[in-house]
Amino acid sequence: MATPSPYSCPSAQPDMHEARIFGVLSGTVDAPRVAYLKQEAVIPAAARPDTGGVNPIEAFRFAARCEEGRCGQYAGGRCSLGQRVVEGLPPVIDALPSCTIRPSCRWHAEQGREACLRCPQVVTLIPMGDDPLSRAALVPGSAADSPQLRDLR
Ligand code: SF4
Repeated sequence: MATPSPYSCPSAQPDMHEARIFGVLSGTVDAPRVAYLKQEAVIPAAARPDTGGVNPIEAFRFAARCEEGRCGQYAGGRCSLGQRVVEGLPPVIDALPSCTIRPSCRWHAEQGREACLRCPQVVTLIPMGDDPLSRAALVPGSAADSPQLRDLR
């Protein structure tokens, strides 16, 4: 059996291993922002509040154990999504946010503070459009079958 990754995925799905809510989405559709939770407010995905029919990944940011090679974003031993977030999105803050998953976050481990300065605008489920976040979500070579909605993980 493969050794579990030591890293956390910062844009995870609620059904992933060790999934927990570490941020709440606020802001607007055009300019979403994540409010990072304090440690005592982080809750397991299974105990998440009822979102009243709204997809939980439109309301929260989940972290979970990185799936490495079982994730389409993993390439060359790294998270290609974290790299594209840094390369394709502008910073939206100028100081590191207080974020409980930083010690294990794969994006921070690989991209450093530049990932954190862009991270608050990341929404895991996004409508596909011609905007920087949609472009960052695309795995190179997969554009031909791009759906209307894409899971950003
Ligand atoms: S990139 Fe930075 S702010 Fe975002 S989840 Fe990772 S450690 Fe937290």
